[in-house]
Amino acid sequence: MAKAVDRSAARGSVTRAHVIGAGLAGLATAVALARHGVAASLYEAGPAAGGRCRSYFDRGLNCRIDNGNHLLLSGNHAAMTYLDTIGARRTVGGPGVARFPFVDLATGERWTIEPDPGRVPWWIFRPARRVPGTGLRDYLTLLALRHAGADATVAEALDPTSPLYKRLLEPLAVAALNTPPAEALARLLRTVMDATLMKGGEACIPCLPREGLSESFIDPALTWLEPRGGKLLTGCRVTALRAEDGRVVALETTDGIMPVGAGEAVVMAAPPWVADGLVPGLVAPDAFQAIVNLHFRLAADPGEAGFLGVLGGTAEWIFVKPGIVSVTISAANRIVDLTAEELAERVWPDVRAALRLGEAMPAVRVVKERRATFAATAAQERRRPGPRWPAETGGARNLVLAGDWTNTGLPATIEGAIRSGYTAADAILAGA
Ligand SMILES: Cc1cc2nc3c(=O)[nH]c(=O)nc-3n(C[C@H](O)[C@H](O)[C@H](O)COP(=O)(O)OP(=O)(O)OC[C@H]3O[C@@H](n4cnc5c(N)ncnc54)[C@H](O)[C@@H]3O)c2cc1C
Repeated sequence: MAKAVDRSAARGSVTRAHVIGAGLAGLATAVALARHGVAASLYEAGPAAGGRCRSYFDRGLNCRIDNGNHLLLSGNHAAMTYLDTIGARRTVGGPGVARFPFVDLATGERWTIEPDPGRVPWWIFRPARRVPGTGLRDYLTLLALRHAGADATVAEALDPTSPLYKRLLEPLAVAALNTPPAEALARLLRTVMDATLMKGGEACIPCLPREGLSESFIDPALTWLEPRGGKLLTGCRVTALRAEDGRVVALETTDGIMPVGAGEAVVMAAPPWVADGLVPGLVAPDAFQAIVNLHFRLAADPGEAGFLGVLGGTAEWIFVKPGIVSVTISAANRIVDLTAEELAERVWPDVRAALRLGEAMPAVRVVKERRATFAATAAQERRRPGPRWPAETGGARNLVLAGDWTNTGLPATIEGAIRSGYTAADAILAGA
């Protein structure tokens, strides 16, 4: 969260916030404001809240699915605080310890990484607990991330030929940054590592929604906000901001004009490709990477963690949930234009081999999120604005920005989106 602000004085001056976009960033802003007595109206263009982190009923599969698998780690403090605040911590589960099973489809090898709970990584001193084929010296190369240049890529900062890179660091980097390591910014990976792996196993416990993303991150937030004056308008697209004297005074929406009173703030929590059309002159990320998810309708053994890292195939991570096996492929611009059938034909053999299944391919839903996250490159990093966009360059005094694309210091993740919401709330409480 951003540095402490004197909220006691601000509480009296800001009476309501108008939040454009009810994804995690917008919801986190509303939750943080409500904790200080400021209610929010959320305007959401889609039929439901959640944005890029949502669940819905899929008629073809006849069950609820998530738009894509989302993995959170216990070291993601903003996300954990958010879940605690909205009373949803118990809706996330997982192996309960830091445990990451992998399979290499090319060699048939299987191994599990289990970092020790404390900061001292005893596990790397024991060959049997290391990633197969790695030596102690390989793990020391992780320290190179600390000294990486400001624009260095992951592949430049680490040794892409080492077994540790191929079997652990590359899969983690692609999952966390959603960008090919030859382009992805090493310092964004470092911030993720510093909050998780470098802190030890206590900070790396995988947390997965027991039921679905909406049931953990979205619905409990809306339930918590309602008695605190929160209002959600779905199917309500904001089409323009009306400004006078450097303040936003109204939102033009598909449901009509929404006045913004004196003492009211506006939060732009829509994705960057929308925000830059609504805020004149806004510079925001404009290059994106896809994530492809394939949801196979079948029951399988969840194994020791409920998910499995996969090397040597097209599938990258397999999540086993009740009645559904879901596959995630990140940094997926390279394959996103394949048809659903082509993707399923390519990925199903990986799932069969990884989970040791015998059956034919079951019903499958392919979900392509073409703009899943901004590309975590040096050029895009420079386009990430802070929570304020100055009035003289098209912003407004009572307007703040939130979203995983703002300058959080993190890649586009749940943690980044929630942190951006907390930062936006702090900016409002400090006097937007
Ligand atoms: C497939 C997939 C897998 C992912 N996996 C992970 C993971 O494993 N771990 C992790 O930490 N993160 C993961 N992420 C990233 C994470 O989902 C995002 O960082 C986060 O959800 C972004 O939240 P946000 O609120 O910033 O943006 P969004 O979720 O995009 O929210 C913006 C909202 O604004 C709404 N909107 C747009 N235009 C308008 C308008 N004109 N008026 C009103 N509303 C509007 C949108 O409908 C949307 O609801 C994944 C993302 C995807 C897509």
